[in-house]
Amino acid sequence: MSEHAVLSPSSFHRLMACAGSFALELVVPRLGTTTHSAYGTSAHNVAASALVTGLDAMHFINTEQKVEGFSFVVDKEMAAFIQNYLDEIRSEVGEDGDLHVECRVDFSKTLGVTQSAFGTADAIIRKPNRLSISDLKFGKGVLVHAKDNPQLALYSIGALEKFGRDGIEEIAMTIYQPRRNHISQWVVHISELDAFAIEAKVAVEKALLPDAPLTSGKHCQFCNAKPTCPAVNSQSGNGFAVLSNPFKKEL
Ligand code: SF4
Repeated sequence: MSEHAVLSPSSFHRLMACAGSFALELVVPRLGTTTHSAYGTSAHNVAASALVTGLDAMHFINTEQKVEGFSFVVDKEMAAFIQNYLDEIRSEVGEDGDLHVECRVDFSKTLGVTQSAFGTADAIIRKPNRLSISDLKFGKGVLVHAKDNPQLALYSIGALEKFGRDGIEEIAMTIYQPRRNHISQWVVHISELDAFAIEAKVAVEKALLPDAPLTSGKHCQFCNAKPTCPAVNSQSGNGFAVLSNPFKKEL
């Protein structure tokens, strides 16, 4: 089973909207793997293998993909969706791109925390003056947009920590959601990412307070703490997370 970050990019939008969610979610069990999530992981695995080997997705048709107790056979439809993603990534790599597949990036230094603040970007492409961060979403239920997306911004911050900033002026963050025929891109100057990093650091400091406030809203939809959250389950719609957490802040 893959290692989980205490501070993860995928839930960071919630931390920014509800500081108390960080502490509250730490003490509830993680949701297990579902058929949908396992199917998405198998598509990611095929896409990563194809990018690393240079093969097209059709070469994986009829192969069995096993993910945490689930098993899928790649069919033509799945391969066609994955190929859309491969074509986009290969086009972005072009002649001068340096491709890193399933690339783990750590953004703990920028956020001022000591450990376990990382994520895995599906693809990172480094060019002389541009960094491209790509995220494959294989679900089709919720349309995901790149603009102002904290998950992508954290991957970008981690990529800068990993590969350095020399020459980089522009960061392109892209979500590929082939089953919705959807590509969404957010391009920023590196200074805009630096501004986001400051905002993110402040949000983490607030989340680490012993009485971080709970704020309910649309971001509650996929919160693991929702069933027991006092803000959601009370009339007032607010509250405090009075739990301590294992995360130490670097002062
Ligand atoms: S359910 Fe909503 S208010 Fe409660 S912790 Fe989660 S995000 Fe915050």
